[in-house]
Amino acid sequence: MIVILLGPPGAGKGTQAKRLAEKYRLVQLSTGDMLRAEGKSGSALGRKVQAIMDAGRLVSDDIIIDLIADRIDRAAGQGFILDGFPRTVPQAEALDRLLSAKGLKLDHVIEMTVDEAALIDRIAGRFSCAKCGAGYHDHHHRPKVEGVCDVCDAHDFVRRADDNPAAVKTRLDAYRRQTAPILPYYRKQAILRQVDGMADIDSVTRQIEAILNRQ
Ligand code: AMP
Repeated sequence: MIVILLGPPGAGKGTQAKRLAEKYRLVQLSTGDMLRAEGKSGSALGRKVQAIMDAGRLVSDDIIIDLIADRIDRAAGQGFILDGFPRTVPQAEALDRLLSAKGLKLDHVIEMTVDEAALIDRIAGRFSCAKCGAGYHDHHHRPKVEGVCDVCDAHDFVRRADDNPAAVKTRLDAYRRQTAPILPYYRKQAILRQVDGMADIDSVTRQIEAILNRQ
């Protein structure tokens, strides 16, 4: 099964992708995670993209398409869930070409719809465990024991550099201008479905599962 999760920053794509990857045994392919790992590693690619990411702008299609092509090759034979890709029409077209060259096809494109005002609050409060990546929020989801990760007991937490108000504004803008135009692309292929991304995390998971289980 090949699934795309679409939605603006803060819609909960990463959280849902992790859950679904586990339940359906899919490989989670998150271009944001890949780029952050490159940035941390200090590789040539990481150095090239870090400032763009920090500012909340989109990395160029060429770089992203190379990155994802390599990961799709490695995931061959397994299903995967794409989170954060594609983000432009050329990326969506490149994905179609990559998949058809391998005799694969997209099964589901799921748009997580959200209220923009709520996104700012969601993004401003989020942080994650530095060790296992489990996600938390200042107001909606604090660790059960203050300062200790519920999942792996680690004590260190991190916030994303691009979760500041200026970068968030740029990221929302990029979504509206560059990513939203891919919705009609998938609507035309009749594989686009919507879920209410404002519902609580478990209920969003159930909505997505209902779509994936339909096949
Ligand atoms: P994310 O974790 O998906 O919010 O991505 C974080 C940042 O990585 C974005 O703001 C972009 O700078 C970059 N990025 C991730 N995926 C893509 C993509 N498909 N196309 C362009 N830039 C991307």
